[in-house]
Amino acid sequence: MLAYRHAFHAGNHADVLKHLVLTQVLRYMTQKDKPLTLIDTHAGAGGYGLDSNHARKHAEYDDGIGRLWSRADLPAGLADYVNLVKAFNPDASRLMRYPGSPTLAKMLLRADDRMRLYELHSTDFPLLQETMAERRETAVMNRDGFGALKADLPPPSRRAVVLIDPSYEIKTDYAKVVTAVREGLERFEDAVILVWYPQLQRLEPREMVNRLKAAANQGARRGWLHASLTVAAPTSDGFGMLGSGMFVINPPFVLQQMLAESLPVLKRELAQHDGASFVLEHNTR
Ligand code: SAM
Repeated sequence: MLAYRHAFHAGNHADVLKHLVLTQVLRYMTQKDKPLTLIDTHAGAGGYGLDSNHARKHAEYDDGIGRLWSRADLPAGLADYVNLVKAFNPDASRLMRYPGSPTLAKMLLRADDRMRLYELHSTDFPLLQETMAERRETAVMNRDGFGALKADLPPPSRRAVVLIDPSYEIKTDYAKVVTAVREGLERFEDAVILVWYPQLQRLEPREMVNRLKAAANQGARRGWLHASLTVAAPTSDGFGMLGSGMFVINPPFVLQQMLAESLPVLKRELAQHDGASFVLEHNTR
């Protein structure tokens, strides 16, 4: 039984980094006049009310999207992402709702782009079905998303963006991500794959990034890009999320520049202590 509910965390600093990267990748990939398939292996509920008991419990969005909401001086990519979140709200002057990855993708994809969404949670799955009900070319599946890369790649149009965004509730998720990426690249070396991960005071996330680098160096046509943002200080008990990262395989070339402009701003605006930092590295060809 899954305990994790994304509603507790919607709009936090980790969603900001993840959804900035997702939206800017989709902006770029939808410029070409050829259909695209978006695979979201861990899709969540689709959208979240920030006045719900879940979201209010910790109000994580206050230290995430809440800190960017009223800023008029953001770099272009970041401003575009914030405007998409505003467009999901009934009143752009007040932050009341936060879009999940399927909703942001729905806003950016064209009518003939396909969506394949996986969600296992018995409460979030029907919510996701409802969110996507009107959209054609969309499959919403109550199935294990780790199998999606093997099952769905390559897509008929041979253009794919895959978001892998597990909750890492179970320690084996780290290894499953690497296996899924390897299987995906074996089937389709051009897949644009976005992996989100939490920064924790433990080894698994760092080891996973090293294994993803090796997988991409070996199997991806255009290499990889890695961005991470650390906002919180380490704790004495060793618990808590210090920040998060996005590992992008076959990154669109515009991503490096967009993140070079956005990460210093995110570090400044989302910092929860003086030692906030970011990493931006790549090995592209
Ligand atoms: N991608 C979403 C977004 O950005 O809005 C958030 C996803 S949340 C971090 C992870 C989701 O994965 C949870 O809703 C959880 O129920 C679901 N989940 C956990 N294990 C799964 C699996 N093996 N396959 C599909 N979904 C899973």
